[in-house]
Amino acid sequence: MRLIDTHSHIHDAEFDAGRDAAIARAREAGVAIILALGVDAANSRLAVALAERHECVLAAVGVHPHDAAVATDADLDALEQMAPHARVAVVGEIGLDFYRNLSPRDRQIVVLRRQLETARRVGKPIAVHAREAHEEMLPLLTAWSREMGGRLPDGRPLGVMHYFSEDAALARAYVELGFVISIHTSVTHPKATQLAEVARAIALEHLVIETDSPYGAPQKYRGKRNEPAYVAEAAAKIAELKGITIETVAEATTHNAERLLGIALSGGERGVHGASGIRGAGVPPAHDAGLQLADRGAGFQPANSVAPAAGRSRP
Ligand SMILES: [Zn+2]
Repeated sequence: MRLIDTHSHIHDAEFDAGRDAAIARAREAGVAIILALGVDAANSRLAVALAERHECVLAAVGVHPHDAAVATDADLDALEQMAPHARVAVVGEIGLDFYRNLSPRDRQIVVLRRQLETARRVGKPIAVHAREAHEEMLPLLTAWSREMGGRLPDGRPLGVMHYFSEDAALARAYVELGFVISIHTSVTHPKATQLAEVARAIALEHLVIETDSPYGAPQKYRGKRNEPAYVAEAAAKIAELKGITIETVAEATTHNAERLLGIALSGGERGVHGASGIRGAGVPPAHDAGLQLADRGAGFQPANSVAPAAGRSRP
């Protein structure tokens, strides 16, 4: 069984203690790829640096809506320079959060629009955070989807609705626009009835799974730090809800995530690490990416020295 965790903050400070062990546990649990999502420029650099060190990690670069207020134009320029990087698969985590309102709404919208433009320019999908903001998000993404022709230029989905927390009708609306829906490990919580209904109602071909680790551990590990290995809990719950096997869920969600991320995992890849694991579609193995990075010169610096984003509790 192979799984892909389409949303993790494995590069964050919360994993400084035991990050490599957490990645090893994920590999043992069948997680072939972990997508590490940046929330600001410095944090995105950490995600890219981790993706360069680990074959099974890919990066997303972006400014989270919580951080929109403090993101400078220089930060957004820096992200635009990072976005074409070979180990960057996604522009994210981007979006609107009118629940916590940690940044002014108009600034969130400006920063989101700017990053939609970045994604269009580099032809990569987006990872969308939307909380109590769908009245603005749906028209924004409808317009963007129209501009994009409903797909990326290479035919892939436009992005993923991360930690989806609305009803099935809205999930369908985003699917129609060209997005996949991500089912979070909290689907295992007894009170997550709406998310369970989304997992049941939306066809498997439109679903991916995620942990959003370290946040939102599944029921079995509640109160603990969530980690990519636990993404299997989401797969198991979807299988139960749909009355199918976990293997079927794993196969389909992994296939969907591969398409989203623009990768193909070779069939023989099972607990094997190294370059043979990933091929095709413009995502070279980590060491090649490192070479390419060196060639890029001053445009981008893998910043080991950059402090992680301030410990602002998410999501
Ligand atoms: Zn996140």
